[in-house]
Amino acid sequence: MSQDSAVPHFHNYIAGAWVAGEGTRPNINPSDTEDVIGHYAQADTAQTEAAIAAAHGAFPAWAAATPQLRFDVLDAVGNELLARREDIGRLLSREEGKTLAEGMGETHRAAMIFKYFAGEALRCGGENLPSVRPGVSVEISRAPLGVVGLIAPWNFPIAIPAWKIAPALAYGNCVVFKPAELVPGCAWTLADILSRTALKNKEFHGVFNLLMGPGSQVGQALVESPLVRAISFTGSVGTGRRLISGCAARQAKVQAEMGGKNPLVVLDDADLEVAVNSAVQSAFFSTGQRCTASSRIIVTEGIHDAFVAATVAKMKTLNIDHALKASTDIGPVVDARQLEQNLRYVALARAEGGELAFGGERVERERPGFYQMPALITGTSNAMTISREEVFGPVANVIRVKDFEEALLTANDSEFGLSAGICTRSLKHATQFKQQAQAGMVMVNLPTAGVDYHVPFGGSKGSSYGPREQGSYAREFYTQVKTAYTAA
Ligand code: ADP
Repeated sequence: MSQDSAVPHFHNYIAGAWVAGEGTRPNINPSDTEDVIGHYAQADTAQTEAAIAAAHGAFPAWAAATPQLRFDVLDAVGNELLARREDIGRLLSREEGKTLAEGMGETHRAAMIFKYFAGEALRCGGENLPSVRPGVSVEISRAPLGVVGLIAPWNFPIAIPAWKIAPALAYGNCVVFKPAELVPGCAWTLADILSRTALKNKEFHGVFNLLMGPGSQVGQALVESPLVRAISFTGSVGTGRRLISGCAARQAKVQAEMGGKNPLVVLDDADLEVAVNSAVQSAFFSTGQRCTASSRIIVTEGIHDAFVAATVAKMKTLNIDHALKASTDIGPVVDARQLEQNLRYVALARAEGGELAFGGERVERERPGFYQMPALITGTSNAMTISREEVFGPVANVIRVKDFEEALLTANDSEFGLSAGICTRSLKHATQFKQQAQAGMVMVNLPTAGVDYHVPFGGSKGSSYGPREQGSYAREFYTQVKTAYTAA
């Protein structure tokens, strides 16, 4: 970081050194567009190549580092994140627009992820099997891949980087990390913390590199580099699908988390309060900017009107305002482009026959920002555009169905399959939904968003590609299996 003007400048971290970029990009607070958090370096292709080369050079040392050393590095990061939960949470809210409580919660989660993977560095063992041949034994072990490129989105500025960086390092890989352009602040902070661990020792320079810069340049160069053995990506469907093809063409391992159009089914026998809270929480909190957000709320006839009335009543109580105000329930939309997209989808839903039961309009607050009232659209069908495409904002539509069977068919009628929820008191329907919902994650009487950090995260169908993230399942992606035979 340098402070040559009132607004600080932040550099990239390449080969153990802080390096200025080809230019800078301002990080602007969506709650107050006059608040510039800092100017962040933008890497070019040459710097991307330098970072990849540094990671490649550091790989033998890091792959040979003891599990204890890797544990110590990751545990130290977890401890510092915990201790600085409030200031990092504040930075997160300031750059992304989540409320302070959400920002602090996310920082806490990132800390727990680092601490979990510290332990994973010690637990990543193999198997021994007797051979079918006499006098021969077989060992199955897991080896790191080499250099991995980690490409993150803007909606979880610290948790998603954590759930990619921590397993990558725990299992012995070297990292080139490219955060999203809109949220470089938390990414830089994470790099700063990592740079003060044992990674500061010369032999480990290059184990972790931070490359802030445009996806079309830096991200693309990572995807194309023959030295990058794997890419872990979270972002939009369009970018993800192009990136998967690029990786497949050169046989690089790839893991991609993309969109969702997550259904929340509400059956007649649901506890109304549980259903309304689940819907409001997962459709509108974090400004609806979660890939696990509920966006299609599928409600059976008997409870439909009561559910809509109670949901609208609850929405009326929500306070949409500056992310750092203690009284705020929902912060602003992340930027002008996303706000424009949200409003466009609301207009399209109405044009296709939906009725706006609440919200959906831009609002002004004390400071200039991207404020939008959460939108609930009723009278929609599953065939409308609003039911097919991901909005990625606080916009949800209600689809009225006859019974459980129609609800299940409707929930599964989507190209996506990340998270699916059901609110019901029927064990039979809950069980059937868990078995038959086409989704990587199923929630019963819970919001579709909000997952634990120690269990697998990922979807089915068009939502995800490659092995799961998080928990011990992350080793499927970040390691390769080796089978060794020994004759006694
Ligand atoms: P969004 O439209 O929500 O920003 P993107 O999929 O464009 O979603 O962005 C997710 C991440 O992918 C960001 O870090 C972005 O910079 C990066 N990215 C964008 N384009 C490319 C690309 N062509 N190759 C690799 N990464 C990219």
